[in-house]
Amino acid sequence: MLFRSLILKIAGWRWVRRFVETSALTRGIVRRFIAGVSVKSAMAAALEVRKKGFRVSLDCLGEHVRSEEEADAAAREYLDLLQAIADSGECFGRAPENINISIKLSQLGLNLNAGHCVRRLETILLKAAECGNFVRIDMEESAMVDATLQALCAVWPKHKNVGIVLQSMLKRTPQDLETAIRLGVRVRLVKGAYLEESAVAHQEKAEVDKAYLKLGKQLLKEGCFPAFGTHDGALADQLAAFAARHGIGKGRFEFQMLYGIHRKLQERLLKEGYIVRIYIPYGKSWYPYFSRRLAERPANLLFFIRSLFSK
Ligand SMILES: Cc1cc2nc3c(=O)[nH]c(=O)nc-3n(C[C@H](O)[C@H](O)[C@H](O)COP(=O)(O)OP(=O)(O)OC[C@H]3O[C@@H](n4cnc5c(N)ncnc54)[C@H](O)[C@@H]3O)c2cc1C
Repeated sequence: MLFRSLILKIAGWRWVRRFVETSALTRGIVRRFIAGVSVKSAMAAALEVRKKGFRVSLDCLGEHVRSEEEADAAAREYLDLLQAIADSGECFGRAPENINISIKLSQLGLNLNAGHCVRRLETILLKAAECGNFVRIDMEESAMVDATLQALCAVWPKHKNVGIVLQSMLKRTPQDLETAIRLGVRVRLVKGAYLEESAVAHQEKAEVDKAYLKLGKQLLKEGCFPAFGTHDGALADQLAAFAARHGIGKGRFEFQMLYGIHRKLQERLLKEGYIVRIYIPYGKSWYPYFSRRLAERPANLLFFIRSLFSK
């Protein structure tokens, strides 16, 4: 936790951000986690991953936009992306979609005007439905959770091609999971990537992992096509074993992992017959996503520092 908070703090310094965003020295490592800046490069990466048998979720990176125009532009980008996926023939209208999309509501202006954000989300959901596709709403920091769930509830009566993400680190998640199960909404369970206070979140990794396993088991038993977004092989194996013990077939849930992270585990689970979806981020606003990935793992930071000196 200390390492993570230190790295996220340093990553927030303006000159550090400027250097990482503009330096040619950092491009190699950035490319390891981010599939370029355009829809075209994202689709190329997605189709490459599809050839190996993985499913994909594409995320056009961006968060906390500062104007309605930026939010409109993000929504347009997602409409183009859905069209590009449809043109590739990689969506069929029911889970597990070959290529679906993931989206952050702060990118659609949730912090500016919740009503406008919901309208943008609905436009995207309508387009996704027209293309037989599905939209996953990523979960952001704890201060965003209420507004994100309210937006979900606002669109849910009319749009069922939408899912949500819940974070095991948050102490409120057991209640949120009950709500999601009651609604019948698809949940991706993750540990949580944001720095949170002890009042709202478990601080010890062991507690976050324990909560993940408990929530994961509940999702397997009661949830609707759950997704487990984790690179934690031990947790994945425990959930897989639980599913097998309860007669829950491999086609009734999926594992999800991030592009460029823990490829061995991705391949092993795929080989064992599980559905594995790779979350592929792309776009110009890659910096916050990239710094969260560095902060998650000291080895990534070392790799990053080495890449600066190996040119
Ligand atoms: C598909 C997907 C979608 C996600 N969506 C969200 C979201 O909407 N909201 C949110 O808050 N968080 C999201 N996350 C991030 C998540 O919350 C965690 O921060 C992240 O996955 C690290 O936790 P872990 O479960 O992989 O386990 P950890 O216990 O952190 O890691 C387990 C093992 O995975 C490997 N690993 C983990 N992280 C990295 C890394 N960055 N680089 C290299 N190896 C690594 C290491 O081998 C590590 O030992 C998402 C994660 C995934 C996989």
